[in-house]
Amino acid sequence: MKNKEGILIIGAGGVSTVATVKSAMNIDTFKNITLASRTLSKCAQIKDIVKDKTGVDIEIAQIDADDTNAVIELINKLNPKVVLNVALPYQDLTIMDACSATGTHYIDTANYEHPDEAKFEYKLQWERNNDFESKGLTALLGSGFDPGVTGVFVKYIEENYLDTIEYIDIMDCNAGDHGYKFATNFNPEINLREVSANGRYFENGKWIETTPLEIRVDWDYPEVGVKASYLLYHEELESLAKNIKGVKRIRFFMTFGDSYISHMNCLQNVGMLGIEPVMHKGVEIIPIEFLKTLLPDPASLGSRTKGLTNIGCVCEGLKDGVRKKYYIYNVCNHEECYRETASQAVSYTTGVPAMIGTKLVYNGTWDLKGARNVEEFESQTYMDELMTQGLPWKVIEMGI
Ligand code: NDP
Repeated sequence: MKNKEGILIIGAGGVSTVATVKSAMNIDTFKNITLASRTLSKCAQIKDIVKDKTGVDIEIAQIDADDTNAVIELINKLNPKVVLNVALPYQDLTIMDACSATGTHYIDTANYEHPDEAKFEYKLQWERNNDFESKGLTALLGSGFDPGVTGVFVKYIEENYLDTIEYIDIMDCNAGDHGYKFATNFNPEINLREVSANGRYFENGKWIETTPLEIRVDWDYPEVGVKASYLLYHEELESLAKNIKGVKRIRFFMTFGDSYISHMNCLQNVGMLGIEPVMHKGVEIIPIEFLKTLLPDPASLGSRTKGLTNIGCVCEGLKDGVRKKYYIYNVCNHEECYRETASQAVSYTTGVPAMIGTKLVYNGTWDLKGARNVEEFESQTYMDELMTQGLPWKVIEMGI
């Protein structure tokens, strides 16, 4: 069999646009790029953006990634070394299975969810560890920003600043303004399912559940200012609780404006966030899927969005017996992201790390085998790549 070479990117939405442009900027590593998705015309649009921004020609293909055999067939035809999955979390398992069946490394940015149940966890992906490990393959799970960079940030603090990390708060702020009364910055269905779910955090070995948006803090984000931030459950909490030894508490907070929250509450109260089918004039519809067709496509927000994002981690623990607290974060500017990749900062902050994870697995720098989360690898090379690929970061020491 010919040596495996090149990458296959699956999914052609907002995150994919950035990941594909950035991969093209790293074509010396990847050699060739194929972008495949359910709707071929969306791949064609991204192909044009990539050509315009980088001068690189990519290949495109149509694929229904819910069909494992179809993905196997495509992988066998193209023979890529790595598959980057930036479709939806619903496709994680089918694409993972196609990768392990064909001897191909796998990367994604979000953990598996079943379309009929608003619940996400790593269980089914971690259960595929042996499928990858036994074949000398890596499945890198969650290499976006959160999950992704947040896990690498925590690992970097553990490797360089603290002997043990006891408390982690992940702080995610999008202070961008797209001018719409209500829109979501990434896939509306995934976004609204996440935000309208109960909150949860890890403390002293237990998971503590809250009602949706019950816990609020007003946090001062560097370069952005004070923003209301709400506790949510987020998937990196599960892997960090497992992988960061000695951690006592991990929480995740995200900013939401009053307008977003009142629209979301209203939509929830009238049943528009439902995932069960309802009959409408003799036709079965799923409310949240119908809502998605009404809302602006996140990929279209790029040209309208102004302002900054700031995502980072506050880590508190002990260094040589002394209590210390560090804040490590990245600030991103929506308009600059748009100029570079024709996408807003939420897609940018996810797509750049998706490419970086793919690059480190592709070139063998990150070579742990099996189904792994980012914080299981050494952090320095990823941190260096963030600096040079468009997501520079800072560490500041905070008072206790
Ligand atoms: P979009 O909805 O913009 O794009 C998803 C793409 O996947 C679309 O092109 C869609 O195709 C395609 N797709 C859906 N189903 C299939 C299928 N069965 N077969 C092939 N292609 C399919 O989503 P985003 O770009 O906003 O998000 C992409 C991923 O990134 C999601 O998993 C999301 O959860 C994750 N994410 C991760 C973040 C992080 O920081 N870790 C942050 C933000 C997002 P079509 O248009 O034809 O339906």
